[in-house]
Amino acid sequence: MKKHNFNAGPSILPREVIEQTAQAVLDYNGSGLSILEISHRAKDFQPVVDEAVALFKELLDIPEGYSVLFLGGGASTQFCMVPYNFLKTKAAYLNTGTWAKKAIKEAKNFGEVVEVASSADANYTFIPKDFTVPSDADYFHFTSNNTIFGTELRKDPVVGVPVVSDMSSDIFSRPVDVSKYICIYGGAQKNLAPAGLTFVIVKNDAVGHTGRTIPTMLNYQTHIDAGSMFNTPPVMPIYSAMLNLRWIKAQGGVKEMDRRAQEKADMLYSEIDRNKCFVGTAREEDRSRMNICFVMAPEYKELEKEFLDFATAHGMVGVKGHRSVGGFRASCYNALPKESVQALIDCMQEFEKKH
Ligand SMILES: *Cc1c(COP(=O)(O)O)cnc(C)c1O
Repeated sequence: MKKHNFNAGPSILPREVIEQTAQAVLDYNGSGLSILEISHRAKDFQPVVDEAVALFKELLDIPEGYSVLFLGGGASTQFCMVPYNFLKTKAAYLNTGTWAKKAIKEAKNFGEVVEVASSADANYTFIPKDFTVPSDADYFHFTSNNTIFGTELRKDPVVGVPVVSDMSSDIFSRPVDVSKYICIYGGAQKNLAPAGLTFVIVKNDAVGHTGRTIPTMLNYQTHIDAGSMFNTPPVMPIYSAMLNLRWIKAQGGVKEMDRRAQEKADMLYSEIDRNKCFVGTAREEDRSRMNICFVMAPEYKELEKEFLDFATAHGMVGVKGHRSVGGFRASCYNALPKESVQALIDCMQEFEKKH
């Protein structure tokens, strides 16, 4: 049976990216060697890093003066690298969920953290809009897409201080005005590449102003200077990322990803709103297009497991909600075809008819 991959992360990648990666694992560029057994400094690997960086810059229209870094450590390591490199005395954070909270916890090790607003009291079902960022904050940090709670802020905020964003789960799903940020980072395993790769877009002249000594590996300057080759970067995931960026470009770039994301999200949210068995959990204006969260309607509450089993039997994978929300979560990343969303909708309609 055809599987429809709604995993939240690691998650679906375009089939051709997986096939080309598989080919490179067997024989990289006809070299007789696997990509798993070549040096990151090999002369036929450097062009891969260069192309991946170039495609990042092209697809996101990154202005001059920024570096694109490929690191290890996950987005979670960025939770400490960001304040290590940018927080002199005070930083402002928007608390929109689990990942934001983790970022806040790390920042507190480096200085004062002002939580400008939080939707914790409402189990993060919305993104607070009514807040002010202190004008003396070194930066403002927010999570653009809350993977767990299914909310998303798609507007580049203008708050009067430098902006940093965790875009782990919606990078390359839409155009972003990178010039509004000093740093954008994320784990690649949601919408870009296999696990093991962390991307960082950093404004070069924003680095180096805290006055503190930063451990070499946690200093952005190290990786800017070394072109992500200070130590061994995740070779194979970078290769897959490069292939995926080629795929995005061939499909029509982030504009086309944006269109598709909207189309898929409109389809699924309309069904959630129409179907008597289900309700969405996120406030309508803040609904994520990447992670679509819904639960059983109160009068059908006891059917939760039945629907999960029903959907699983129909080929749906990864639709169980995160434990902090319950119910269901359908992650609709770039590589998820519209047909998979339609298959889930068909499932929901069939289930409704049975009850
Ligand atoms: C998954 C995720 C993270 C954590 O990423 P790791 O690479 O596992 O450290 C951080 N932020 C967001 C928004 C995420 O979705």
